[in-house]
Amino acid sequence: MTRAGMIAALARRTEPWDFVVVGGGATGVGVALDAASRGYAVALLEQSDFGKGTSSRSTKLVHGGVRYLEQGNISLVIGALKERGLLRANAPHLVHALPFIVPAYKWWEAPFYGVGLMTYSLLAGKRGFGRSEILSKRATLRRIPTVRADGLRGGVLYYDGQFDDARLLINMAQTAADQGAVLINYARVSDVTRTTSGTIDGVVARDLESDLELRLAARVVINATGPFSDTVRHMADARVAPLIAPSQGIHLVFDRSFLPGACAIMVPHTRDGRVMFAIPWHGHTLVGTTDTPVAEAQLEPRPLEEEIDFVLDTAGQYLQKAPTRRDVLSAFAGIRPLVRTGESKITAALSRDHTIHVDPSGLMTITGGKWTTYRHMAEDTVDQAALQAHLPLRPCITRTLRIHGYDAGPRPPGALSLYGTDAPQIEALMRAEPDLARPLHPDLPCTAAEVIWAARAEMARTVEDVLARRCRALLLNARAAMEMAAPAAALLARELQRSAGWQREQIDRFTELAQRYLVSGA
Ligand SMILES: Cc1cc2nc3c(=O)[nH]c(=O)nc-3n(C[C@H](O)[C@H](O)[C@H](O)COP(=O)(O)OP(=O)(O)OC[C@H]3O[C@@H](n4cnc5c(N)ncnc54)[C@H](O)[C@@H]3O)c2cc1C
Repeated sequence: MTRAGMIAALARRTEPWDFVVVGGGATGVGVALDAASRGYAVALLEQSDFGKGTSSRSTKLVHGGVRYLEQGNISLVIGALKERGLLRANAPHLVHALPFIVPAYKWWEAPFYGVGLMTYSLLAGKRGFGRSEILSKRATLRRIPTVRADGLRGGVLYYDGQFDDARLLINMAQTAADQGAVLINYARVSDVTRTTSGTIDGVVARDLESDLELRLAARVVINATGPFSDTVRHMADARVAPLIAPSQGIHLVFDRSFLPGACAIMVPHTRDGRVMFAIPWHGHTLVGTTDTPVAEAQLEPRPLEEEIDFVLDTAGQYLQKAPTRRDVLSAFAGIRPLVRTGESKITAALSRDHTIHVDPSGLMTITGGKWTTYRHMAEDTVDQAALQAHLPLRPCITRTLRIHGYDAGPRPPGALSLYGTDAPQIEALMRAEPDLARPLHPDLPCTAAEVIWAARAEMARTVEDVLARRCRALLLNARAAMEMAAPAAALLARELQRSAGWQREQIDRFTELAQRYLVSGA
């Protein structure tokens, strides 16, 4: 999967594409993967890097959504639990079961949440990840030695899925490419084209690397731009009513000492009535999230001071040692593309179900849903798009389609396990040039060989692509990531044949970006 190869494939096509997908997050890449695997001709354009938007900024859970169970939305939970099981079966190198404990401090909490979480586990049927059980205080502390012991009565154990969102997305893009899709990053769609009757029949985009205009004709244009969906809809028709109610969520990352075991904490009811998680992730502790309505989606949203205080405050209520601003290694925000329903102003109450919306111009928008359900969203979208394009309906095959890197006996978690069957090729790079085996930073595992691999096989184009999304340094430890920028830039320049000036510019840009992942008062 190389960018030059993708641009060449685009230029070779003389026929209209069956589908042009705008947006390279979980939704768009999922649609491209589904369409290509059914044999449709599909091209996808992403304005930045794959996953630059919300899809690299999630809580990293493949889950049915305990909260939706609480809201009584059983069909949503059952559907998502089914997708959870399919995803683990198709991408075992990236999705694994994670034990969660709900700590109980009030007498009624263990029986109450116990019943709910046993129901949750049962709803997964034969695709279950593990049985739920009620734990004594001692058993709870044995599994989570850092949970606040004062007043603790016990806990409820249950299992859900965990993954690396940006890495799964890259592997999905590779799978889509293997199936014949053309996917181009750094290609921003700026307009749509129309037939004489006003129906949309293509897009106009700019290749942000060459500054050349790209024109793609399509039977159906599929808008999969998540929180930016209305911006693209307005390119087609400035009068359409908005579909999206953007809502920000943040995460704070701490070192492993806050949650040293293999178990995560789930808080089912925070002060503002939300669910919050503290999760072990890549040798660190990830805590989030919030749900703050925002007026407009941004590509690089920033955590609000009150969100940071809220997460710190909530974590402090459940951990022996309350984390402070000084403990925050990285803080990142993402925007949920929630679908507006009536006049509700509370985004936490808005539906997490997906919506396919077709404007009178023929522009199809797929939005809402969640990472976990991307496959189902894509299946529905491609069914609908094929119908609209008057194409013969071919059956969806993604329920059993293995994701790039699929490894039947995945390696134990650790160095390179996330690469699945690509790992031996990275090891071969290290053997050929032993210097490439060295981590770029003593506090993080990312090696020089992975930077080369990201540029060579995963379409990474910038230092940010590598340090934020191919390896997760920026999200794990923003200061360490800044120190990795210079060696990463040098390696990328070598692989992509870039100048010394390009390297300097990349280091400056990345350093400026990484500053935004630090919190004030740290
Ligand atoms: C804080 C938070 C935590 C979450 N946690 C979870 C979780 O644990 N599990 C789960 O299942 N779900 C989770 N979700 C939900 C999930 O992350 C989102 O539903 C999903 O990532 C949305 O993907 P998307 O592709 O629709 O949007 P995005 O990932 O935002 O992708 C849209 C893309 O469109 C591109 N784009 C925009 N305009 C243009 C244009 N003009 N031309 C070309 N490209 C364009 C953007 O650059 C962007 O990359 C979470 C969401 C948030 C905010």
